[in-house]
Amino acid sequence: MRRPLLSLMSVVLVVSACSAPQPAQKPKPTITSITPSPVERERPAVDLSAYEAGRSRPVADPVYPAYGNPSIDVLHYDLALGWKPGARTLTGTAKLTVRAARPISQVKLDFGRALKVDEVTVDGARVKATRRYDDLTIPLPEPLEAGQGTVVTVSYHGRPKPVDSKQRRKDISMLGFRIGGGGRAWALQEPFGAFTWFPVNDHPSDEALYDVAITVPKGWSGVAHGTYQGRTTEGGSSTFKWRSTDPVASYLTVFAADKFKMFKDKGPRGIPITYWIRPQDVPEQLPVARRMPEIMRWLEKKLGPYPFPSAGLVATSDSGMETQQMIALGPRYMEPSVVAHELAHHWFGDTVTPRTWRDMWLNEGFAMYFEMQWYADHEDGTIDEFIANIRRYDAALRRENGPPGDYRRDAFGQSNVYYSPAIMLHEIRERLGDRKFWAMTRAWPQEHRNTTQDRAAFVKWINEHTGRNFTKLINTWLDSTTTPR
Ligand SMILES: [Zn+2]
Repeated sequence: MRRPLLSLMSVVLVVSACSAPQPAQKPKPTITSITPSPVERERPAVDLSAYEAGRSRPVADPVYPAYGNPSIDVLHYDLALGWKPGARTLTGTAKLTVRAARPISQVKLDFGRALKVDEVTVDGARVKATRRYDDLTIPLPEPLEAGQGTVVTVSYHGRPKPVDSKQRRKDISMLGFRIGGGGRAWALQEPFGAFTWFPVNDHPSDEALYDVAITVPKGWSGVAHGTYQGRTTEGGSSTFKWRSTDPVASYLTVFAADKFKMFKDKGPRGIPITYWIRPQDVPEQLPVARRMPEIMRWLEKKLGPYPFPSAGLVATSDSGMETQQMIALGPRYMEPSVVAHELAHHWFGDTVTPRTWRDMWLNEGFAMYFEMQWYADHEDGTIDEFIANIRRYDAALRRENGPPGDYRRDAFGQSNVYYSPAIMLHEIRERLGDRKFWAMTRAWPQEHRNTTQDRAAFVKWINEHTGRNFTKLINTWLDSTTTPR
């Protein structure tokens, strides 16, 4: 049986679960006292060196400021998740190694209100956390100076609910954890929504390392981002383990539980690849998945080494998403050109991640451009024809959604952040010539592996790299409300 909730928390939960966020009626957060430890003890310093690669410089988001917390830098998530398809419930223990990015007395995380918290600890001592809407606030026994670390654990259970993204784009109107027929489940979330299945600093500027273990009934598989570490079966259940040794942004995490069949493959330079496909979809989907090594080789020729130690494809029920080291494709997206798009993101988006959602063009402009170039090289048409074609939509896209560098808040992921920056890249290619253009697209991800970047950094870099001044061209293409001439 699960632990009963602390009474205070159930009250806060009921309030937060049944009322829409209205600033005027927000209940005061009740930071309660800490359960005293049985023995007075000096808090030992938390050693952060093991997770140094998960260090980030978090910032607040200019477009979606409700998510993420720039005061903390999560270095590592250790997630032990259990999915029960029959009961449709998720159980989880999340152990977060956190660095204070500035002096803090509490750790505020994004965490979905649908999930019930069973226990929270800070450096091993139980504390009472508070819930408000989709926030979980954990009081620290002692405040931390900037740079100091703490380990918080959150145990929880419940039936996860996706979050209404308030986006006009239909396929991303709901984000996060989804449950399908037979209890299969998957979670995808851009720009936010990882908090629907684990407590998280849900912002791309705070990338972190991950260890994920997913326990499912025997015969089922649990798939996540990162490199597959194998599975163990005990009694009636199997546990699948995943590890990310390169930092991952929360929107690039993935969860999938289904009766998948797993297939192994090898990419360029022997990179291990796994495909996870439902048995009934294998005849149709496996041949598409098996194109991955060839597509990776094509991308490597243009962009240099694939920046991660493994790759994969999981067949989810919808979406096409560049989830890190494990792209997620729904049946409608199971196409080689989409595989090329999501793999191109591993250079543009995954290893070099936009620091805030203002710079989504930095992801999609490049991925779109490489998708079109892949299509031109392997299927039909020329890049000039594609660019001429999408140029016809540019004016209307800017009018409807805003310019690509400053899109409307409800216009996340509209075609303006794909097409217009792709045209901009083509303009840069025409000015540089092919040789210098491809050298530039190769150098940007290779020189900025495992970092977050923004427009100012890209403009400064491209000007230095090419010895030309593209400042005006880029700013005009990203900011103009009409198509630049
Ligand atoms: Zn994309």
